[in-house]
Amino acid sequence: MQSGRRGLGDLPMISLQEARARVMGICPVLPAEQVRTVDSIGRVLASAALANVAVPPFANSAMDGYALRASDVGSVPCRLEVVGALLAGSGERVAVGPGQAVRIMTGAPVPEGADAVCMVESTRAEGDWVTVLEPVSNGQNIRPVGDDVKAGEVVCEAGAMVGPTQLAALISAGVDEVSAFKRPEVGVVSTGDELVEPGEELGYGRIYDSNRPMLLAMVAEAGCRPVDLGHVGDDEAEIAAILEAASQSVDAVVLSGGVSVGDVDLVRVVLSRLGGGTAEVMQIAIRPAKPFSCAVLDGRVPAFGLPGNPVSAAVSFELLVRPALLKMAGHRSTERPTVLARAADALRRKPDGKTHFVRVRLEALQDGGFSAHPVQGQGSHQVTSLAGADGLAILADGTGLDQGATVEVLVTREPALWG
Ligand code: AMP
Ligand code: MG
Repeated sequence: MQSGRRGLGDLPMISLQEARARVMGICPVLPAEQVRTVDSIGRVLASAALANVAVPPFANSAMDGYALRASDVGSVPCRLEVVGALLAGSGERVAVGPGQAVRIMTGAPVPEGADAVCMVESTRAEGDWVTVLEPVSNGQNIRPVGDDVKAGEVVCEAGAMVGPTQLAALISAGVDEVSAFKRPEVGVVSTGDELVEPGEELGYGRIYDSNRPMLLAMVAEAGCRPVDLGHVGDDEAEIAAILEAASQSVDAVVLSGGVSVGDVDLVRVVLSRLGGGTAEVMQIAIRPAKPFSCAVLDGRVPAFGLPGNPVSAAVSFELLVRPALLKMAGHRSTERPTVLARAADALRRKPDGKTHFVRVRLEALQDGGFSAHPVQGQGSHQVTSLAGADGLAILADGTGLDQGATVEVLVTREPALWG
């Protein structure tokens, strides 16, 4: 415990790459389990899902029109006798003989004897007869059995995440259950004696606890189940108690505050103690979000200690926690996309051995490129500027970039929301 209390001044700074490798290294991929397909949304498949039934399960009409024998329509116009009507799902069985046709709607099974469907727009109905006005070829407007997928074929590969469209594909192929990785349940705790719950009176020297709601939302946005574990004071016993309880109930814990070099930065102390050999107390060569601690609780549950400054907490989550949670959920790719953008203003900085992450607003340009506009207020406490950012421009150590220079931007917000 004493070593945990030691100042961090003597701790060497490590690269972001090294820090990420250490964080990823302590995070397991959660076990796979059988789940009902209808409950699998947001999960990653642990093995390929195979079709139980062919899609479509029977040959059916792609059009509203007339099912007929293509060979009957030698020259047009051509008159055929209408011997019945078929609606999708009617369950009726009708046969089409030579010189006959059956009125058919999209999705209805192609009747016995028929080998083509002429769309209604190419016909003229006259009582029990129909005149076909255009030539018809064998198989026209018929969707054969298994045209989409055959029984036993792969519907979704292992590693695919079940989103709305994957769900539709699985259900249409009669897949009732899938093998999918557990969706991580992630507890969020904020620490600090100064924190007040939203809606309560702000006393002297107090601030609203904004990190906890932010991190809970970020956990949800990463596809995990957020679990609100509340807020604790700067008290070693309280922090230890909440972590010990969390290690029995969730799959990972995200904490904010208390990982820096202040007198009451006890999260790193507790993580070092509870995590034993797995604990990592780091100083990362980035700005913001230099301090970061993590450890595995009870041999199973990774806990991530983020700095309390809201911008640092958000950047830590983006750069270190989000990829770790995606790994735990079974995702193979854990990276946010980046874009190359033109710096709308100079992005100046001083050399300090660190990579800087500058909050920028992104704009799509006429020529298909992007421009990056640094937001006003880049201090790590300035959460309002964070709210206006679409991404983080990555500035390597040095003096920064001139206006118009190309800069790589980590995209943290969907392009539809840019502006
Ligand atoms: P710490 O990392 O605990 O030293 O906190 C750094 C700064 O972040 C201090 O100004 C804290 O008041 C602030 N802070 C810590 N936790 C939160 C939180 N949950 N919400 C908003 N600000 C916080
Ligand atoms: Mg604090």
